[in-house]
Amino acid sequence: MLKDQDRIFTNLYGIHDWKLAGAKSRGVWDNTKALIEMGQDGIIDAMKESGLRGRGGAGFPTGLKWSFMPKESDGRPSYLVVNADESEPGTCKDREIMRFDPHRLLEGCLVAGFAMRAVAAYIYIRGEFVQEAINLEIAIQEAYDDGLIGKNASGSGYDFDIYLHRGAGAYICGEETALIESLEGNKGQPRLKPPFPANVGVWGCPSTVNNVESIAVAPEILRRGEGWFSGLGRPNNTGTKLFCISGHVNKPCNVEEEMGIPLKELIEKHAGGVRGGWDNLLAVIPGGSSVPLLPKDICDDILMDFDSLRDAQSGLGTAAVIVMDKSTDVIRAIERLSHFYKHESCGQCTPCREGTGWMWRVMQRLVSGDAEVEEIDMLINVSKRIEGHTICALGDAAAWPIQGLVRHFRPVIEERIKSRKASKAA
Ligand code: SF4
Repeated sequence: MLKDQDRIFTNLYGIHDWKLAGAKSRGVWDNTKALIEMGQDGIIDAMKESGLRGRGGAGFPTGLKWSFMPKESDGRPSYLVVNADESEPGTCKDREIMRFDPHRLLEGCLVAGFAMRAVAAYIYIRGEFVQEAINLEIAIQEAYDDGLIGKNASGSGYDFDIYLHRGAGAYICGEETALIESLEGNKGQPRLKPPFPANVGVWGCPSTVNNVESIAVAPEILRRGEGWFSGLGRPNNTGTKLFCISGHVNKPCNVEEEMGIPLKELIEKHAGGVRGGWDNLLAVIPGGSSVPLLPKDICDDILMDFDSLRDAQSGLGTAAVIVMDKSTDVIRAIERLSHFYKHESCGQCTPCREGTGWMWRVMQRLVSGDAEVEEIDMLINVSKRIEGHTICALGDAAAWPIQGLVRHFRPVIEERIKSRKASKAA
């Protein structure tokens, strides 16, 4: 279990003052100038050494991503774009940072922006996050008034601006290139890659899109040292992580824990355990709705990190832990997610536009049992034709929960079809 002194986010739930004075008393903006004096290469090397992997879901090494930005200017400005469009079902960690620790994010913007030679950061915030946008606006103004950002930011000699941009409530705008399109004022539809944003990003300029949590932890990593961060967790899965625990637990919560914590320990120590006890557990979606669920027997021993969950044919994703006890109709639960992806598909590519609707209609029949057993294989076949064949990862995200359901609960699906046939024949 993570020691208190190793926690980065010391104001989850807003028990302390979230404004500038409170943030400073908790160590935020503490000699930020010294961090900038590490130099661009120094910061990026330290971030690489820390082992931080992107906290938005993909888990790409953060320092490496920053290093893709051009070192020499070709006349175009560079930008940092913060993905604050947190919309993955079950996920509410970035919301907590922006609501109760906004200065930690702003300091991270300055440090990360400097490291990648950006002139400004654009924070693209989910439209539904009204209070979070208000708090961030207040914090940005406080930071300008205190000389922490803007001209000669934090006395570093570096000029850096931060802008907040509110989205309009589309899940797909959490995809980095759709976010860029939306930021530019266009319809939020993903772009084909390459070119990658580090070459051609927002307004055709070099840009890096990072998740809120990835940026917010950066100053603390630099302040305490990359060795401190890499000493937490497991090799290749280092540091601390915010977990959002919801569903059939006694005390749903957001909590910062060490990467690699056993799922069972995470749920029992922080969320009051599964409703009715651990033996009443049916399944867990460990990383937001886009990753396959895991049945109880795997949950008994699984560690919560990128590699362990990948090896279990699931994923850490956004670390949103959705717990389902034995009262859950697991087919109906995945059917509901299937509808979500159908609804959120931007419609740009055929496998996703047509396939998500097709899969949802089959899932509806599996819920009622009005299907043929052979349709289960057909459903998997279709999901495989979507997976990896679309412009963005939403197609994969629609396919994986269904594949996980069939992988682990096929007998339940077959039994429902057989029961339905028997009841019709009776
Ligand atoms: Fe749009 Fe879906 Fe294609 Fe992504 S995969 S670009 S959401 S149609």
